[in-house]
Amino acid sequence: MPPRVAIVGRQNVGKSTLINRLHGRRETIADEIPGVTRDRLELGTSWRGREFTLVDTGGYVRDAAGIEALVSGQAARAATDADVVILVCDATTGPQEEDVDLAKRLRRIEVPVLVVANKVDSDVDEADAASLHALGLGDPVFISALHGRGTGDLLDQIVAILPDDDGSEPRVQEMRFALVGRPNVGKSSVFNRLVGDERAVVFEEAGTTRDAVDAVVEWEGTPVRFVDTAGLRSVVKTQGIEYYGLLRTNRAIERADVVLLVIDASEGLTGDDKRIANDVMEAGRGLVVAANKWDLVEEKDKLFKDLTAGFAAYAQTQMLRTSALRGSGVARLPAALAATRERWARRVPTAKVNDVLERAQAERPTTRGVGRFRYGTQVTAGPPTFVLFGGKLPEPSYRRFLEHRLRDAFGFEGVPIRLRFRPKQARRRGRTERDG
Ligand code: GDP
Repeated sequence: MPPRVAIVGRQNVGKSTLINRLHGRRETIADEIPGVTRDRLELGTSWRGREFTLVDTGGYVRDAAGIEALVSGQAARAATDADVVILVCDATTGPQEEDVDLAKRLRRIEVPVLVVANKVDSDVDEADAASLHALGLGDPVFISALHGRGTGDLLDQIVAILPDDDGSEPRVQEMRFALVGRPNVGKSSVFNRLVGDERAVVFEEAGTTRDAVDAVVEWEGTPVRFVDTAGLRSVVKTQGIEYYGLLRTNRAIERADVVLLVIDASEGLTGDDKRIANDVMEAGRGLVVAANKWDLVEEKDKLFKDLTAGFAAYAQTQMLRTSALRGSGVARLPAALAATRERWARRVPTAKVNDVLERAQAERPTTRGVGRFRYGTQVTAGPPTFVLFGGKLPEPSYRRFLEHRLRDAFGFEGVPIRLRFRPKQARRRGRTERDG
């Protein structure tokens, strides 16, 4: 049975047009499945070699029985049976009550949901479509079902979240880590301790750069990729060349989800260490610090305090004391990296974001002229990115304050937070306020 993609949405948002468009783009011909009712049409289709069934759930009307009847019926059934749900909305009207209601219910089901902002016929319309962030289901995919704009991207996204062919389990996402740091801090030694006992370590040449060699291992059933281990001398001989280059470090950071920054604790926190930590934040990657060569440190308590204070500026990152030489502390790194990866990829509910936003502004109002942030939602993860609606761009100190409050509330330690600001749009103001 191919996976099922349910198309839901209220009337007139363009569901039928979208289904025809998606079905029309099929690479293989599939017949309509016989015996289905007129209002629940199922069409087989495929994209990039993946087959799936589009389930048309018909349009929604708020009838006399009210909104409950609407969602307890076909939508709920189709949505919960499906592997992916596409919530189609009309970008030109922004979120309407039915959209908000459907979104609220879809947020509760386990099935992944993609919000589609239809009728985005040009770049200009994308600004309107942004109001659909308020549905709290992530970044809307901008399309024009009528003209075909963006539908290839939509199909790519659908295929990316379909469960694997061979089972019903969703694809386990590979975690990507990079080990970076100045020369001689002990990166190679840490790496060898980390994967030394792994019989299953596989070295692969990465597709992106010719000289990058990744090491792939499995930690508790999850594939883990260490990017560009060619930079770690003991793994691949580099003929005496010191492979410490800013370019190489930055490439590794870009390709990772979470970066393990190894420092030589006996030298304290150097300017280069800070520069790398800063690059990790700018790139939007998670950060874990290994304070290595801890065996050489004399005033251990004092140094621990100093380093912890020094690294607080980098998203309150976690610092672990290690001695790759003696093997101590290294065993705690995998859990720290995996936990940071989990936080980096986490999505938090919109209602909670709004609680934090409200409390933060009560604690410390914005300065004159910025206005009030009336509504906020997390639009993407990895790194967590929030859009705040209503106010103008605040000064950097206020921005940092909001980041701190969000980090504390949701436990985004070691994870940079991105904030975007959308000043209020008069046309939609009433609705986003109320729905918040
Ligand atoms: P890389 O350039 O960062 O990959 O560093 P290496 O792993 O090659 O280590 C550089 C030197 O530091 C080697 O002589 C290691 O034996 C030594 N080293 C690595 N980790 C430790 C540690 O935890 N304690 C001590 N005392 N020496 C270490």
